Amino acid sequence: MTRLIFLGPPGAGKGTQAKNLAEFLQIPHISTGDILRQAIQDQTNLGMQAQSFMDKGELVPDKLVEDMVEERLKQPDAQTGWILDGFPRKVTQAKFLGGLLINLHEGGEKVINLDAPDAVVIKRLLGRGRKDDTEEVIRRRLEIYRDETAPLINYYSDRQQLLTVNGNQSQEEVFSDLKNIIAA
Ligand code: ADP
Repeated sequence: MTRLIFLGPPGAGKGTQAKNLAEFLQIPHISTGDILRQAIQDQTNLGMQAQSFMDKGELVPDKLVEDMVEERLKQPDAQTGWILDGFPRKVTQAKFLGGLLINLHEGGEKVINLDAPDAVVIKRLLGRGRKDDTEEVIRRRLEIYRDETAPLINYYSDRQQLLTVNGNQSQEEVFSDLKNIIAA
């Protein structure tokens, strides 16, 4: 049973690696960013509430993402493990997730910190060209990452759940490190 949380700055390669690893492990890749972007495209209630926050690079309110994650983790395909990508993104969300996993009788989750320097992630994001990948919005997302998300590194390291992988390598090298670290 593998339950993994991917942490790391935007542009560290979380999305790509989480997707590949989930495929390799045959467990669902649960990306809150992907779910929210799909909701915007489908013009659902959730999507309409989330859009203005995402366009500015701000975090979507906790309640919206927390309900969304709870619902997703209760789906049948998530009973054999999962990879969470983009959640939790702040300490309040991490506490929510901890409580939820206790309620669902799930545990043993590991957190992978995929790290890369600012200069590297900015260059990658500018080359990607998603709607929220303009210079100003990227700067805001990195600021939020530093203020709200990076504290989760200590949070999970204090709980002996943290594993760190260097994201400043080729995709193949990162993937190989990930496979090694979860097998160890
Ligand atoms: P990246 O990590 O590359 O910036 P994501 O696809 O993970 O991109 O997230 C894109 C946007 O979706 C975020 O900037 C934020 O607005 C919203 N979002 C995703 N996950 C969360 C979350 N856990 N809490 C609040 N907002 C979120």
